[in-house]
Amino acid sequence: MRKKIVAGNWKMNTLPTEGVELAKGVAAGRAEVCDCVNIIVCPPFTHLQSVIETLKGANVAVGAQDCATESKGAYTGEVSAQMIAALGCEYVILGHSERRQYYGETSETLNKKMERAFENNLKPIYCVGENLEEREAGRHFEVVKAQIEEVVFNLTAEQFAQLVIAYEPVWAIGTGKTATAEQAEEIHAYIREVLRSKFGAAADECSILYGGSCKPSNAGEIFSKENVDGGLIGGAALKAEDFLAIGKAF
Ligand code: PEP
Repeated sequence: MRKKIVAGNWKMNTLPTEGVELAKGVAAGRAEVCDCVNIIVCPPFTHLQSVIETLKGANVAVGAQDCATESKGAYTGEVSAQMIAALGCEYVILGHSERRQYYGETSETLNKKMERAFENNLKPIYCVGENLEEREAGRHFEVVKAQIEEVVFNLTAEQFAQLVIAYEPVWAIGTGKTATAEQAEEIHAYIREVLRSKFGAAADECSILYGGSCKPSNAGEIFSKENVDGGLIGGAALKAEDFLAIGKAF
């Protein structure tokens, strides 16, 4: 049975006190969401610790939004996977399209970040997805395939067993445009097929999340598809009520 997951990517939103309030709201309503759904929140680095403390015993896991390519040393401004793990994070988002687009992340960088994450027992949520131009040119399958082959195919079977994938079409992120449930299922099934070509039956155990303007009103339909195992949620994760409603949408 694949894990069902709803993960909130808070991005560069909330001040530390606001983040703690949001986490309190998620903790307070967690019991209304099935235990069979793994709930994860990914706050900014600055409030990872206070959010982790707030969520102790609440059955909500915490992830970071990124980690450094290097383990430690003279890399001003960077935050290492080891630091994140030491705080008690379980997950780390890697390869978000905003990091690929604005900070020049490539498969080369992401291979290093993956290694750092696994060295520190963090489970990566690896994001893939095409932009609008690529979708309109019908290139979405090849784009996503390359993002997987260039990074995920370098993992060992043991590492792959810990990986979560998030398919996030760039044209749907923060735009209010959502992929239809059929579009999501089509590419999720394709991603699983690509994974199967390398990892065999283990591909059937890998959770593949949809991300891109997912909200309470559309989550149920998208999550009903066979190869959609949950969501990576941006905007709607900033309101505990909406985020939890998405968790209830399965
Ligand atoms: C995201 O950035 O991971 C995301 C899915 O954002 P939104 O839900 O706001 O489109």
